[in-house]
Order: sequence, then C-alpha cells, then structure tokens
Amino acid sequence: MGRNILVVDDSPTLRNSLSFCLENASYNIIQSENGQEGLDMLSRFMEDGRSVSLIITDINMPVMDGIRFIREVKATSFRYVPILVLSTETEREQKDKAKEAGAAGWLNKPFRTEQLLWVVKKFIR
Ligand SMILES: [Mg+2]
Repeated sequence: MGRNILVVDDSPTLRNSLSFCLENASYNIIQSENGQEGLDMLSRFMEDGRSVSLIITDINMPVMDGIRFIREVKATSFRYVPILVLSTETEREQKDKAKEAGAAGWLNKPFRTEQLLWVVKKFIR
C-alpha cells in the first residue's frame, strides 16, 4: 500500500494536479481545502491509527491559513511528519514564518512534476 500524503490547498485545480502526479507515483493522497479541514483529517487519522508520511500545504487559504496550520500540526502527535509548503513567488516573505513554524521545505507554484517528486522522495523514506 502506498504512503499517505495530506494535501491542503484551497484551489481544487492545484489539489487535483498534485494528486494526479503523486498518485501516478503510487502515493495515496488525502485532500483538504484549508488548515482546519486538514487538522480534522489528521485527528480522524489518529483515531483510526493510520499514519501520514508527508503533508503538503498552501499558505493563503480561507478559514485557517498555512502558517497557523503548521503551528497547530506541531502541537499534535503528527509533529514529526515533514511539512512541505507549496506557494507562489509573491508569498516568499512568508517563507521565514513557515520555517519558524516548522516547515521542512518549500516548493514554488507552478510546480514541475520532476521537481515535486524529487522533493517528496527526499522527505519520505
Ligand atoms: Mg491558496
């Protein structure tokens, strides 16, 4: 069975293209459209005793943004799951905040498939 990757982004197009690329590489994708939904998903995973190998999150999202989401994840039992931030060039100033909050890496939108898979493989052992 493939490893579980949680994708958190408010753009359905982005979520779907990420899922397409990663599912082709045999990963199992769980989608959430904002930080709060992502956290809810993680607590369901915890209740079911399922694991998450990687989290990929956007920064700008309604309800709960990526920075707060990362901080909240770090206060759960999923704190050791690596978190990659996927964001636009203009959100660069958020990079330091994301790192401070505990993000492990950064990918720019639009992403290239080979680059995405390279980074994902680097973080999922
Ligand atoms: Mg967004």
